[in-house]
Amino acid sequence: MGNKKKQMFDLEKSLKFAQGSAFEDFSTKLLAWYKKEKASHPWRLLWEKHKDPYHVWVSEIMLQQTVIKAVTPLYVEFIKKFPTVFDLAKAKEESLRTAVKGLGYYSRFDRLHRAAKDLCAKKDFFEWPQTFLEWKKLPGVGDYTASAISSIAFNEVKAVVDGNVERVFSRLFEIYEPINSAPMKKSLQEISESLICKKNPGDYNQAIMELGQTHCSKNNPSCKSCPVSFSCISFKKNTQNSLPNVLKREEKVDVDLYLFVIQKKNKFFLSKREGATPFLKNRPGFFLLRDLEKKPLKKEICGVYKHTITKHNIKVHVVLGSEEMIKKEKGIWVEAKKLQDALMTSLDLKALKVLWELKIKLPWALNKSLAILSEAKDLPKTQNGDLSLSLKMTGGNSKNVL
Ligand code: SF4
Repeated sequence: MGNKKKQMFDLEKSLKFAQGSAFEDFSTKLLAWYKKEKASHPWRLLWEKHKDPYHVWVSEIMLQQTVIKAVTPLYVEFIKKFPTVFDLAKAKEESLRTAVKGLGYYSRFDRLHRAAKDLCAKKDFFEWPQTFLEWKKLPGVGDYTASAISSIAFNEVKAVVDGNVERVFSRLFEIYEPINSAPMKKSLQEISESLICKKNPGDYNQAIMELGQTHCSKNNPSCKSCPVSFSCISFKKNTQNSLPNVLKREEKVDVDLYLFVIQKKNKFFLSKREGATPFLKNRPGFFLLRDLEKKPLKKEICGVYKHTITKHNIKVHVVLGSEEMIKKEKGIWVEAKKLQDALMTSLDLKALKVLWELKIKLPWALNKSLAILSEAKDLPKTQNGDLSLSLKMTGGNSKNVL
């Protein structure tokens, strides 16, 4: 844009523009592109084959704040394990937890489970919610998810606006105001409702989101092959790389957590975490304490790594603990060979990796258990150096550690 004056966003003007000649073929071109190029996600293939809203609903919940690549393999296994809403309603909590292990934000699956139970509660009668408003009544279903499900599975004309759509619109209409502010989100919803294809709202919604993922990326969008470049103001003015503008997210909070690995012969203690810090409450795993008054000595800490949950930047200290610490703690003892399956959060799985890396130098008893652990498969891969191990050897018998 150089020194050129940036236009203030005007909703009326944008709505008028969206109804004008520049957008005449917008949805036709977008849908034609989508039909030809759409990704073969398993939830799409299942929907096309069975037309079961369950497949759409589960995918939308799994995709909340989670990337497609992480969801795909777990989605397939989840549907194998719980093929229908009735199977999900009957599922044991443990079994559901194992099925979504590693995806994070686990309360969404508690709500999904609760909703499935509510839907199946009537013995001789089952009916899916259909409209946006009916879907919104289910636990865990907000505006975005209700729009996506009601449009894809029930053809309701209800536009979705996610981060991808916001980015596309900021460029199509050359909007310089922050696109994630509450008033702008409302305006973008209105624009989206005015552009949606009335005959095929489900495909339209999926198409505009996929355009954001594949072409209208954050950096260097692929405008030359974009099916709607003819409508795009930013493309015409070559301003696409200066957009979108976004409001900075809430500041991150630094947290220190101490994760105590407590072992008895060949078993490890996993706490129910009923009284744990809110973002890990009721997520079973190693016994943990936050903000310790009496901190373990440096030499008592086996490893340190970073982990992020919502707005929390967590520094996790893995420490060998003793049975003394858990006298009042509710939990279970799990055999070493079953430990990986019993841990559900990636925060705990990373701790397991720390222990695994330490297997040679740890005290004998723990080392023996870790020999079994070392056969465990599918431990999480280190992501972008977030497992920044600073391994310190305890150098002695575990009894002396705490
Ligand atoms: S032309 Fe470029 S900037 Fe405009 S919508 Fe397409 S990919 Fe995005």
